[in-house]
Amino acid sequence: MHLPIRLVAQTSAQPSILPLFEPRLSAAERYSNQNFYLAPCDVGLGVFARRLIRRAEIILRFEGPTISFAEAKARGPRECMTLQIGPDKYLDTLPPAVYVNHSCDPNTGIEDDRNLVALADIEPDEEIRFDYSTTMEEKSFTMRCCCGAPSCRKVVNDFSTLPRHLQQFYLERDVVMSFIRAQWPARTLHPRP
Ligand SMILES: [Zn+2]
Repeated sequence: MHLPIRLVAQTSAQPSILPLFEPRLSAAERYSNQNFYLAPCDVGLGVFARRLIRRAEIILRFEGPTISFAEAKARGPRECMTLQIGPDKYLDTLPPAVYVNHSCDPNTGIEDDRNLVALADIEPDEEIRFDYSTTMEEKSFTMRCCCGAPSCRKVVNDFSTLPRHLQQFYLERDVVMSFIRAQWPARTLHPRP
């Protein structure tokens, strides 16, 4: 039996580890740009649109060293900053991407395993979030969710645990990690009549 590798009781990958990283104000200043800015939100820091971002625009790219499941687990409190990109492959996510919080009703998704892309037009000052379940298939980690969306699932869990209609929604938009997508038969995208 695997123990949960990341225990975070909020809708975020970063609140408990931020103080280890750098002061919040300097992070906000350092990683903001003409497209988005970092600012406090209900779960720590969040990423907000600085301008109108159009659907299909790429907002930022997830970058960082590649590590294994065991290495991610060995990160201790910082392991929640990792992004799963393979069955035993994680990205030790660097700022600013690490500040993108989870939503059960997100306005972005991750395309090509790295690029955060807008799923709809995003208004200035709207927080930018994606669904962490689109990157998770490890039978190890769950996270309580308090994202506030009417469709909030209350728990963030593996992609395979999502309702079928939601799996299909993300698969059709190409915002599911490719290692997870590879596990889904084509019939999921085109159900038989
Ligand atoms: Zn939620």
